[in-house]
Amino acid sequence: MKVEVISVGTELTSGQNLDTNCQWLSRRFAEIGLPVAFHTTVADDMADNVAVFALAAQRADLVISTGGLGPTQDDLTREVIAAVAGVPLAEDAASLAHIKDMFARRGRTMPDRNHVQALIPAGAEAIFNVCGTAPGIWAKAGRATVIAMPGVPSEMYRMFTEQVRPRLLKMGVGGGVFIQRKINTFGAGESAVEEKVPDLTRRGHVPEVGITVSDAVISLRILAHAASLAEAQAQIAPVEETIRARLGDLVFGTEEEELQDVVVRLMHEKHATLATAESLTGGLVAHRVCLVPGASDYFRGGVVTYTDDVKAQELGVPRHLLEKHGAVSEPVARAMAEGVRARFGTDLGVSTTGFAGPSGGTDENPVGTAFVGLAHAGGCEVMRWGWIGTRYEIMSRTAKLALNMVRLELLKR
Ligand code: AMP
Ligand code: MG
Repeated sequence: MKVEVISVGTELTSGQNLDTNCQWLSRRFAEIGLPVAFHTTVADDMADNVAVFALAAQRADLVISTGGLGPTQDDLTREVIAAVAGVPLAEDAASLAHIKDMFARRGRTMPDRNHVQALIPAGAEAIFNVCGTAPGIWAKAGRATVIAMPGVPSEMYRMFTEQVRPRLLKMGVGGGVFIQRKINTFGAGESAVEEKVPDLTRRGHVPEVGITVSDAVISLRILAHAASLAEAQAQIAPVEETIRARLGDLVFGTEEEELQDVVVRLMHEKHATLATAESLTGGLVAHRVCLVPGASDYFRGGVVTYTDDVKAQELGVPRHLLEKHGAVSEPVARAMAEGVRARFGTDLGVSTTGFAGPSGGTDENPVGTAFVGLAHAGGCEVMRWGWIGTRYEIMSRTAKLALNMVRLELLKR
């Protein structure tokens, strides 16, 4: 089974934009056990596109393209696939209704030009685009399956994840079905996590279990390959159970779930409110919480208190603590968390303070030192952590540490 990824767009061949779709798709294919054989990038030119798609349909079994499905004159992918498949273009009624509806919802009428987005090669299927006007195309050209998706990354990601990938898995491409389960953990390092599951991560284990790290989140990926979807799922279930039993509350979620998603869900379940007082993270904790729909029911607000004066004025951090211990210290993290909890009248108050670098820090608390405070009705805990990384990595990881402390406290309720 050979796969070819085609990226269409003069903005890519000219070097103006980086082709990130190709990288993203290749990774997704690898995850389902289909290594990509060819990457092709082509400018918005009809003859060149026809040549590229025709060659791909000969040398690959699965051709997947992004770009060129917009309404403008340089968007040629529809015509290209029709030409390579040797069929005319035909209007897809459902796609046209969807495009008109997308405009209507924004209080606009559809410009004539957008009509072309409802044209797809005769005999092909339109792939519904939840978040944009351009439908994707699922076609046959010779013996190859040709799938065209929009170029806009966010539209493409959803179309691939929600529609294309499940359909490929059901087809059992690559000889059998590959499915993957990702289990996300926070709070222990890669080797500490592996030490708890060495029997699962050894080479040759069925299903395969791998460990990946991304910005302090350690994920275990269970990759099952079986003749049917049911068999693959049956391989995964007991392994997931073992991982959860051994790792306990280090596990916070699965797949693309992030700490803030879990925190907002738990706040909802436990009816708990939260406020943030941030120095080191400059609002990142609040920002991440607010990314989650429904956060407003439980997140009351936050303050960024960068200087000593503002910490004292806004949070009531006692001046003598700031003078005696410095802003990056356990007592100040505690006073910030307690201060914001009292001022915002919430169940939980979380604080961050630390040295993000690259300069600053002290012998006792070098760059990368972070204190996170968590105040609740029963008291206040402060955690000290030492990170190694860039300024942003230190900020981002400390924000995760703060969210994780909130999560662990909520789990106790
Ligand atoms: P198109 O569907 O060709 O009109 O592309 C719409 C937009 O999606 C382009 O202007 C780019 O910003 C973006 N885009 C298209 N192809 C890619 C790609 N391969 N990687 C990243 N962004 C892309
Ligand atoms: Mg384009």
